[in-house]
Amino acid sequence: DVAGLKSHARKDGDDYLISGQKMWITNSLQADWMCMLVNTSDGPAHRNKSLVMVPMDSPGIERAQKIRKIGMHSSDTGLIYFDNVRVPQRYRIGEEGQGFVYQMQQFQEERLWCAASSLEPMDACIRDTIEWAQQRKLFGGTLADQQWVQFKLAELKTEVEALRALTYRACELHVQGTDVTELASMAKLKCGRLTRVVADTCLQFWGGMGFTWENRVSRLYRDGRLGSIGGGADEVMLGILAKTMGIAKRAPR
Ligand SMILES: Cc1cc2nc3c(=O)[nH]c(=O)nc-3n(C[C@H](O)[C@H](O)[C@H](O)COP(=O)(O)OP(=O)(O)OC[C@H]3O[C@@H](n4cnc5c(N)ncnc54)[C@H](O)[C@@H]3O)c2cc1C
Repeated sequence: DVAGLKSHARKDGDDYLISGQKMWITNSLQADWMCMLVNTSDGPAHRNKSLVMVPMDSPGIERAQKIRKIGMHSSDTGLIYFDNVRVPQRYRIGEEGQGFVYQMQQFQEERLWCAASSLEPMDACIRDTIEWAQQRKLFGGTLADQQWVQFKLAELKTEVEALRALTYRACELHVQGTDVTELASMAKLKCGRLTRVVADTCLQFWGGMGFTWENRVSRLYRDGRLGSIGGGADEVMLGILAKTMGIAKRAPR
């Protein structure tokens, strides 16, 4: 609920004094700068926010906690407190009060990135599983001899190719300057869900070996779970689609 964020910045001369907290911030324990969406006035929720670049060594910033996650261990995720952090107003990105709009625009690219960056891990997961199934001997043959396994892997690859086509189309239109809110939301929704299906289905074919840490498939099972949560949960994507399709009401602004 981006509109409902509580951190605020009040003006003091040429500076902002920022107070509040941010949870779930990727790489925040090692970042030199943070791009922070913050309330810069008391106006309506969609017009009172600005994006401000905050130097992370500023007095008043506490990197309070490294969050222990079930996956995505190659990046840290932090809880950060801000207590009257002084930042020059010239560190604001763009116009004051337009932060919500900028953030929504940025989300389109982030969601396209989510979809695009899910494709290779899913391809690799299917490839690794085919290789494994072809060498795993059981019941007088290999696992890959089982038609159930063949059909499931064929179906997964088909789904990945369908997502690739959707993602490429959305990216092409975005590059041409078209508003791709609907297609980007669809791609984000589909990539989160499909990653879960691909990882879970493939992990099953690895048997006990899939239930170990030293396995790229189990890593996708853990890391990929974030896809349906981060960058806007699946339900948020469905809510956007219900609006762009004209079946849900848009909130008055
Ligand atoms: C590892 C990680 C890294 C992250 N990195 C960043 C970052 O760098 N910067 C940043 O700003 N954020 C970051 N996030 C935050 C992330 O964007 C949020 O976790 C995500 O948007 C979900 O918000 P929430 O956790 O507050 O869940 P909530 O908003 O509390 O939602 C909980 C659940 O409720 C359901 N739900 C939510 N809204 C609706 C709805 N409208 N209708 C029906 N059901 C709904 C969904 O199932 C959702 O998963 C990160 C999160 C994680 C886990």
